[in-house]
Amino acid sequence: MDYKNFIGGAWLATAESTPNVNPSDTTDILGHAAKGTVADLDRAIDASHAAAPEWATSTPQQRFDVLDFIGTEILARKEELGTLLSREEGKTLPEGIGEAARAGQIFKFFAGEALRQTGDRLDSVRPGVEIDITRSPVGVIGLITPWNFPIAIPAWKLAPAICYGNTVILKPAELVPGCAHALVEIISRSGLPAGVVNLVMGRGSELGPRMIDSDKVNAISFTGSVPTGRGIAAACGANLKKVQLEMGGKNPMVVLDDADLELAVDACLNGAFFSTGQRCTASSRLIVTEKIHDQFVATLYDRMMALKVGHALEAGIQMGPVVDQRQLEQNLSYTEIAGKEGGKVLGGQQLELATKGFFMAPALISETTNAMRINREEVFGPVASVVRVKDYDEALYVANDTEFGLSAGICTTSLKYAQHFKRNAQAGMVMVNLPTAGVDYHVPFGGTKGSSFGSREQGRYAAEFYTTVKTAYTLP
Ligand code: ADP
Repeated sequence: MDYKNFIGGAWLATAESTPNVNPSDTTDILGHAAKGTVADLDRAIDASHAAAPEWATSTPQQRFDVLDFIGTEILARKEELGTLLSREEGKTLPEGIGEAARAGQIFKFFAGEALRQTGDRLDSVRPGVEIDITRSPVGVIGLITPWNFPIAIPAWKLAPAICYGNTVILKPAELVPGCAHALVEIISRSGLPAGVVNLVMGRGSELGPRMIDSDKVNAISFTGSVPTGRGIAAACGANLKKVQLEMGGKNPMVVLDDADLELAVDACLNGAFFSTGQRCTASSRLIVTEKIHDQFVATLYDRMMALKVGHALEAGIQMGPVVDQRQLEQNLSYTEIAGKEGGKVLGGQQLELATKGFFMAPALISETTNAMRINREEVFGPVASVVRVKDYDEALYVANDTEFGLSAGICTTSLKYAQHFKRNAQAGMVMVNLPTAGVDYHVPFGGTKGSSFGSREQGRYAAEFYTTVKTAYTLP
């Protein structure tokens, strides 16, 4: 399969291409992806720019029809798309199908939003003058997406962009061209005018800066690593370009003495290791009060070691491979660092299985302090550490003692502590008796501190980024 770029309504091959490798079995090459150049990107920017006036004046019905078509087809093909996703990215098949379904639901949600336009009509403080407050499209938007949710993240940027009348260039992560291609192929048959959605695959470090520097691109929505995000924010600031960033996390999960142990272990197992820990909302710091600590660690360890690790498409597998060699090396190096810092490393070794893939056992690192690198830096793999604390107050302090602020969880049966934590956890999302990862598609997603920048994604709050507010005064 060749994945071509989609520019101005045409599928275009490039001189160079990149193989799409299955992380569960590196002998399985799914296809070859276009490697777009700056010239290809410029063509896509021109096409988006040319298509912008027409799409900005499209009717709510046209937008609904397009988004509903896309959502319906994704949902009807969720098994096929989920299989492609799992083969390409390595999350287990049920997780892959679940993510594909989520992408479909996101398009359905924004189909509805296209019909539910809102605005305000007010009287001026000046006699006889009337005021209308409406939302207009932003224009041309660059969407830069990561590999860990290869269909859901493009969906949650593309759907609101289309819904609110913008045109886009999608630049997906190099590791997952298949999902982006499949999604844009559906979009290409949805009735959208040529140029509204363009797909340019290629190197982020080459194409990203060009997108940001172009006068014809009005805004950038980025999800990815902290260093890349920081660079994008600085460049967008210099160009006075609207920007939205979703980056890393070092998400705390507090487990109090009064927690339901089984529920807490389930939440931590899911939050830390499902999707191979490759979620920005993963529960990577488990902060446990002293009376429940030893029993919690022992139970979680047993459950973790019982997880079936293997080929993402095999039935019964609970944790797939790491996405690539570079990420695998990063995970292994962090477990080594944690051991050298004095942590007790349980699991975490590289695994040789029937197929040649990037497999590792999940790792639990106990006896850590919050000052250790393992608790300060995002690993982005199936690696969780445990910090022992005296009581709730210390737990809250440790939970907030981080430069990140994406998601924070607490397991407790106490209403008092749950309520206090919801108010005082420094995070954009707070979970009580639930894993820090795993969010709904119809409500805002995003963090505080070093995790996010700009307005929220998803749900109705997405309108903040994908529209600009206009205040009109009329003297009739
Ligand atoms: P990761 O390390 O998880 O791959 P990155 O931040 O490197 O995270 O990648 C996220 C997305 O950002 C990818 O689509 C990648 O191609 C893109 N990207 C990488 N470098 C840059 C850059 N300098 N400017 C803009 N986008 C970039």
